[in-house]
Amino acid sequence: METTYYIIPVMKKCDLCHKIIDTLYYQDIWGTVYCEHHRNEAGVLFCDCCSSLIVPNAYPFPKRMNDGRNICGYCLFDFVDENQKLDKAFQHVVSVYNKAKVYLPLERIDLKLCNQSELHTTLCKNPMGLTHTLKSSWKKNKYRIEVLSANYTFVVNTIAHELMHVVQDELNLSLNRQRSEGLSECAAYLVLQTLKSDIAKEIRKRIENNSNTIYGDGFRLVRAEIMRAGSLQKFISHL
Ligand SMILES: [Zn+2]
Ligand SMILES: [Zn+2]
Ligand SMILES: [Zn+2]
Repeated sequence: METTYYIIPVMKKCDLCHKIIDTLYYQDIWGTVYCEHHRNEAGVLFCDCCSSLIVPNAYPFPKRMNDGRNICGYCLFDFVDENQKLDKAFQHVVSVYNKAKVYLPLERIDLKLCNQSELHTTLCKNPMGLTHTLKSSWKKNKYRIEVLSANYTFVVNTIAHELMHVVQDELNLSLNRQRSEGLSECAAYLVLQTLKSDIAKEIRKRIENNSNTIYGDGFRLVRAEIMRAGSLQKFISHL
């Protein structure tokens, strides 16, 4: 007896326009599927935290923040918008730095949670965080880190990155911009490895594949150097 096989294509339906997708489509980290053409369509919103497509009026509900950012409902599930949550993220990052034996001058670091309009603009177009070094000629430097309110994992990423700038200043390292940002990206990558969520994995992938010459190439360059040194701590102590 002959067996007949039928190949039944899995019908993908666009979460935005609800049409069956017959060409290329995107699927973001939260599983939202949408037609390719929505990517550059006027009026289609993307989350200003995780860059996922925002489906209006659908659960989990997105929100337009006071500073004008659109945040998707998934990012809002674990959103750092108060100091207690900021401190939780900070403590996590500090514990990873401690484990990696990288010293932080905690008593001279001050963290401030900001919205987009409060965050001072810099060289970077859409910064997630910023470290101000308050220099003193007779005392040790103090650091004020501005952190953009965002999903918990993104905040952990930002704090881990900025704290490595503090370490660089404390050790008087004068790395060029590419190696300086690359080292900070490596620290963020290391800290993200301790979070097991899909979003942490996704941010790590973005760091790995970042095409920016300063951040992406810097990360890949410094990561190779850290691997040769054996650990982040050994790498830093040899700089
Ligand atoms: Zn569609
Ligand atoms: Zn989001
Ligand atoms: Zn940086």
